[in-house]
Amino acid sequence: MPDMNTPLKILLVEDNELNQKFAIAVVRKLGYQIDLAENGLIGLEKFKSNKYDIILMDIQMPEMNGIEATKAIRQIEALEAGGSHIPIIAVTAFALEQDRKNCSDAGMDEFLAKPYKPHELEQKILAVAQRFGIL
Ligand code: MN
Repeated sequence: MPDMNTPLKILLVEDNELNQKFAIAVVRKLGYQIDLAENGLIGLEKFKSNKYDIILMDIQMPEMNGIEATKAIRQIEALEAGGSHIPIIAVTAFALEQDRKNCSDAGMDEFLAKPYKPHELEQKILAVAQRFGIL
């Protein structure tokens, strides 16, 4: 179980208001902190200026989509000393095999198809947290 004294800090990058509300409600109920970015460009800026544990990334967004934002984040990490790698979970209605591959190729670590159930998001969060030694 996660340590509630140091809750995970999660960045949600999502442009759709209903999807925002749903994800925020699910993550808060799990006891984690959540910050919102309304598109990939804002998400990239928030990644640069804050410290998050996990990113939930939509794909289709204005200004900058989730594929571009993920590539930009991985490029920034590649330039850093120490080789940091923030877990990024794609959360998208684009659920074909090619879509999954595009997300994986861009540097995303997990994939969750919308619509999803609360426990499915929890499982993905716990899976990457365990894999990357966050919890
Ligand atoms: Mn979208």
